[in-house]
Amino acid sequence: MNGLMMDRPLLISGLLTHAQQQHAEREIVSRRVEGDVHRYTYGDMGRRARRLANALAARGIARGERVATLAWNGYRHMELYYAVSGSGAVLHTINPRLHADQVAWIADHAEDRILFFDLTFLPLVEAIASRVSTIRAFVAMTDREHMPASTALPGLLCYEDLLAGQADRFDWPDLDERSASSLCYTSGTTGNPKGVLYSHRSTLLHAYAAALPDALNYSSHDTVLPVVPMFHVNAWGIPYIAAMVGAKLVFPGPWLDGPSLYELFEAEGVTVSAGVPTVWQGLLAHVQGHGLRFGSMRRTIIGGSACPPAMIEAFQQQHDVQVIHAWGMTETSPLGSVSRLTPRQAALEASQRQALQAKQGRAVFGVEMKIVDAAGQRLPHDGRTPGELMVRGPWIASGYFRGEGAGPLVDGWFPTGDVATIDADGFMHITDRSKDVIKSGGEWIGSIDIENIAMAHPAVAMAACIGVRHPKWDERPLLVVVKRPGHELSRDELLAFFAGRVAKWWTPDDVVFVDQIPLGGTGKMQKNQLREAYRDHLLT
Ligand code: ADP
Repeated sequence: MNGLMMDRPLLISGLLTHAQQQHAEREIVSRRVEGDVHRYTYGDMGRRARRLANALAARGIARGERVATLAWNGYRHMELYYAVSGSGAVLHTINPRLHADQVAWIADHAEDRILFFDLTFLPLVEAIASRVSTIRAFVAMTDREHMPASTALPGLLCYEDLLAGQADRFDWPDLDERSASSLCYTSGTTGNPKGVLYSHRSTLLHAYAAALPDALNYSSHDTVLPVVPMFHVNAWGIPYIAAMVGAKLVFPGPWLDGPSLYELFEAEGVTVSAGVPTVWQGLLAHVQGHGLRFGSMRRTIIGGSACPPAMIEAFQQQHDVQVIHAWGMTETSPLGSVSRLTPRQAALEASQRQALQAKQGRAVFGVEMKIVDAAGQRLPHDGRTPGELMVRGPWIASGYFRGEGAGPLVDGWFPTGDVATIDADGFMHITDRSKDVIKSGGEWIGSIDIENIAMAHPAVAMAACIGVRHPKWDERPLLVVVKRPGHELSRDELLAFFAGRVAKWWTPDDVVFVDQIPLGGTGKMQKNQLREAYRDHLLT
């Protein structure tokens, strides 16, 4: 017997309508590419998103067609989030930090119809324009006054002109909640990038789950500044979650350096932020270097790569900012797990609490996790046995756009490519990505643990641990380190720091000091490049 409840679809346009009705006065503040700070409200955003939806319809964008963006975090990008998906088209957020060849490949693969871009990316768009085959129109996300004086782009359109002639009214279609809403490509460090195609339903369920108090804990009393870009897994869902709960939004535009972020945090009373560990390094260095305090920041969400315990300690002990360490991937929308302490764990002493927070945490409701061995057999949740992490749930990808990467699921579970343990409390701990695993004499060494120890040394700014060839053990760990400016550190000093902190055979064989470690388009260390460069380091 079925229940007798309504079957109303979960739609992104529903979030917008809700925000317009319930949070109309809540602000959205953006640092613009044009240089100034722009502020308006959810009410204004809703009206402009409807005008944009009318403009898209006028240009013949049909349901299911892809509308691409190359843009920073800002209010016009937010309008696109709602207008495109709300009207039934698919928002394809392209990562502008990718190489032009990859951007062109992705735009063609997605069969994008129209491309909206921030002025910063004009040279990139000019470089790809003649190589993309499906894009019919290019739109600069600015007003008439700031339009480029000359450009190689044929018939370049102006965003504000597009909106100018349109009505504020647009009746959002009653779509099937399973229809595609947005598209985001994984960075493709192995093989071609693969498109993850989100649905309205997956996006809304993800937003409900992520907003919960023991997940990311967002409320109407918060002011949220997503440092994580809107081209990286939908800024971890923040544009949707904020509209759902009515949080004030602050968009940093292209200015992601420590001083700019700090200034915006303070000026706008930001209470919570979110980003990858590398962005927080710049911010912490600025705050610590100038003896500054956070006036309003209460917590920050850190994920995308492992958050070093030293960073958790710096935020919590020195700045009274709670760190919420979270794990996820493009294929998981992205939220999979959050490291929030249980009431029992909250009573532990500080060092034990921090050790738990350095893990990737427990699955949020909606996501199931297991670890398996090479034969696909379930492994025990004993906190010791590592295996490949498998996940399933209503906001986890079941396949890739246009069938790239074949059918990824194994018995209905998505293989994450991460190696992890899970303990009896359900705390998942990532020891490595399977492609980064170091195998010494047939035994695994967890590169993330090694990096975390190195990062705890006061003279270390960034550390990557990679497996390099070794005549006896096949592979041994090598530590690649960037020193903090003004600090001296020798190889032997750093290696001595590992004594007592890790099993002796896990200690790296050598240390290489470099000026910088290559970062990918989403701020993660490019260990494959380091492996290329140092593969024979221990053989010579
Ligand atoms: P890409 O796969 O292109 O790097 P994603 O953003 O989808 O892009 O990356 C997902 C991967 O990032 C995960 O599979 C995992 O390896 C890593 N990751 C994400 N969050 C964490 C975390 N908190 N700790 C360790 N690794 C993480």
